[in-house]
Amino acid sequence: MTNAKQPPTPGGRPSRLRRAGRALFATWSGRLSTLLALILLGGGAYWYHEHHAITWHELLSPSYWMRRWRGDDLYDPGTALLMHGNRGLREVALTFDDGPHRQSCGQILDTLKRYGVHATFFDVGMRMAQNPDLLRRTLAEGNEVGNHTYDHPRLIKIDNRRAHREINDTDITFYRITGRHLYLLRPPGMDLNARVLNLTRRMGYIVVGENTASHDFAQDVSVDFIVHRTLSRVENGSIILMHDYPKPALALPRILEGLKAQGFRIVTVSEMIAHLPDRQRIAAEDYLQAHMEADLRARQVVVRSP
Ligand SMILES: [Zn+2]
Repeated sequence: MTNAKQPPTPGGRPSRLRRAGRALFATWSGRLSTLLALILLGGGAYWYHEHHAITWHELLSPSYWMRRWRGDDLYDPGTALLMHGNRGLREVALTFDDGPHRQSCGQILDTLKRYGVHATFFDVGMRMAQNPDLLRRTLAEGNEVGNHTYDHPRLIKIDNRRAHREINDTDITFYRITGRHLYLLRPPGMDLNARVLNLTRRMGYIVVGENTASHDFAQDVSVDFIVHRTLSRVENGSIILMHDYPKPALALPRILEGLKAQGFRIVTVSEMIAHLPDRQRIAAEDYLQAHMEADLRARQVVVRSP
């Protein structure tokens, strides 16, 4: 009974495929429909790439689609890295890096208040110390603040001892001004490697990625470009990256109008974490809880130089 099925003859399948391929290219209509199918497939992939926050490498990678199918592309518990919000919810998180800057922070806060929305600011420790009033106002108006290091160095280019100090000095500065600690972190330039992720995880941070790359920090970009590029890349669960600079501050009202017109709700990164699918949400919440309950023991980790 078990032998009822004959094992396939070696090479049988490829030869059938080759025969089918030859048959397809034997006629003009076969060639034409193959060409048409390839154009449609390529065009579809191009359209998807242009309208979604996805790299070509991800689009063409089966392992990316496998991770995405399992939901591991949203939050990775192994590294405590948040890359994307819930794709099933019409919401986005608005984040501003590099502030608080005198020239733009106040204007951004005014706009957020006018539209009744909150954002997450990844502030630089050195600027927190220079502008404590702006930091206090950011929090008082219901916004959230994350760690963007003290001097804005690329963490992958400095050793663990210095990286630890960059992150911890920012937390100490934040604590002195506000009486609170920081739990969210975005590394400058989003430059990450396994060593840095291992350090941030031991220090109890959730590292927050981004999905839109608005390029709003470049000198030569126009406000129109920032608005268009940001709005054309948002989808459910996007983490929008902007900067606390004058041009993005000018672009913000039109971006908020555009998001509203597309039906998006704006949430903070913490709210986005709380809205993740159960498996990822529980992993992220357990991780944060463990670090808070350990009375920030992780922040006092002794880091040896490599
Ligand atoms: Zn930055």
